[in-house]
Amino acid sequence: MVEIQALGIDVGSTTTKIVGVDQSGRMIWHLLEPAEPRVADQVERFLEAARQQTGPLIGIPLIATGYGRRLVSQATRQVTEISCHARGIFREFQHGGTLVDIGGQDSKVIAINSDGKVLDFVMNDKCSAGTGRFLENIANRLQIPLNNLGEAALSTSQEVSISSTCTVFAETEVISLIAHGTPLPSILRGLHRSLIKRIVAMIQTVGLSPPLILSGGVAQNPAICRLLQEETGEKVILPRFPQLVGAQGAALIALEMRAAENASFLGA
Ligand code: ADP
Repeated sequence: MVEIQALGIDVGSTTTKIVGVDQSGRMIWHLLEPAEPRVADQVERFLEAARQQTGPLIGIPLIATGYGRRLVSQATRQVTEISCHARGIFREFQHGGTLVDIGGQDSKVIAINSDGKVLDFVMNDKCSAGTGRFLENIANRLQIPLNNLGEAALSTSQEVSISSTCTVFAETEVISLIAHGTPLPSILRGLHRSLIKRIVAMIQTVGLSPPLILSGGVAQNPAICRLLQEETGEKVILPRFPQLVGAQGAALIALEMRAAENASFLGA
């Protein structure tokens, strides 16, 4: 059995992640699954899995974050993903920087100072073209495993410019390019570039203060990392578990909350 002292759950638009930390804030347990529409039921299953690991969860705080955080009725508290991501990143690197988080249906850029505080942020949850969904749609349509998309894009230096700024129209454009015999890797490289250009515009809004850090599920795509480096001229660093940063930060905030409550109890 592991000694989970606090839990963080990140209910994203695409995946649900839960992280358990020990007394020192070290991540000792996690689960990641595709997000289900019945959020409370999925969270209950996650909590049951946590009980299997650690025993009863009495007294263990749970912070919920992410797009669906308000639907987590079991949570001790809800905290924005901006604060949770900043917390998760600061724990791992012990410094600030510019964090780019690209998830399934949203993307954000967060400026974090050297103490781990959020200085500024910008979020896109209105248009899928700057999110994981952009590439996922194409991968589904072309029946290419998502895992192979980045490598295929990096296998060529030839790049086709994709003019459509909308996910749906880009799909049509890609089909037309394939029909005209354009090599697939060049098209894929152009699609990655198009996504990165949207992210770079967001970075420019907040300002780039190195290091540049990449998180979210899309950080696992090597072409995203490479092209972000190319476009910004900055080295990109990745956390150990890019997709778990928000849940990890939530668990750390829960742990701090627990410690604060203990302190006031002892002081009373
Ligand atoms: P959210 O928190 O918004 O639910 P995540 O940060 O969990 O999103 O990221 C989910 C997205 O990450 C998926 O939609 C998919 O596009 C992308 N993704 C996940 N794994 C990979 C991978 N191995 N390669 C490329 N993209 C990936």
